[in-house]
Amino acid sequence: MRKPIIAGNWKMNNTASEGVELVKALKPLVKDAKCEVVVCVPAIDIPAVKKAIHGSKIRLGAQNVHFAEKGAYTGEISANMLKEYGVQYVIIGHSERRAYFGETDETVNKRTLAALNAGLTPIVCIGESLEERESGLTQKVLDRQIAADFAGVEDLSKLVIAYEPIWAIGTGKTATDEQANEAIAYIRKRCKKLYPGKNAGRMRIQYGGSMNAKNCKGLMAQPEIDGGLIGGASLKPADFAAIVHFDK
Ligand code: PEP
Repeated sequence: MRKPIIAGNWKMNNTASEGVELVKALKPLVKDAKCEVVVCVPAIDIPAVKKAIHGSKIRLGAQNVHFAEKGAYTGEISANMLKEYGVQYVIIGHSERRAYFGETDETVNKRTLAALNAGLTPIVCIGESLEERESGLTQKVLDRQIAADFAGVEDLSKLVIAYEPIWAIGTGKTATDEQANEAIAYIRKRCKKLYPGKNAGRMRIQYGGSMNAKNCKGLMAQPEIDGGLIGGASLKPADFAAIVHFDK
């Protein structure tokens, strides 16, 4: 059994005080959650949000991590720095970081290994662009990302993959339930083949891309989909809580 995980990606939204207000509103709404509930917040919000979620079901996540333990990397944050603040999850390789900040499969792999090494759970984002999907290249892109991003990972069940077709992120265009399920089934099959004996069967794979209070039920009913990475809808407590309660 893979426990579903619903994670919010606030991106560059919410000052610390706004973030505190959001989680204060969210806490009572998710107190009976059966799945794992995570908020991935801007780094500077971490201390305040950590305090605000105390005693609740909400777990804390970050949106990026550097791969070095320490050193001359101005502006970066290490896995141990996150860990010391009670951060448990970290998004790695989001398509926005790949598109705007030069993230490559190689750096995604290094960050993933560093996060695992520090005891954090990486939420590693993979997925194809619209052009790649329309050219029939989805599986080829996933193959490349799977081979590069997870190289050297000893136990795949210690990370979460977010399958995020880039064309569905922030666009309001969701993959159909079947498209999402099919891609996620492929990712798992490929991981099993490429990394035998590394627990690919127990690894959780989320869908991400315009998941909302309405479409979450259909997506989450698919057998291969173990959760969601939620952008826009995670900024509204009632909408995010509705996704957390996808099974109601
Ligand atoms: C995301 O940024 O990971 C995401 C899925 O965003 P949205 O839900 O807004 O499409």
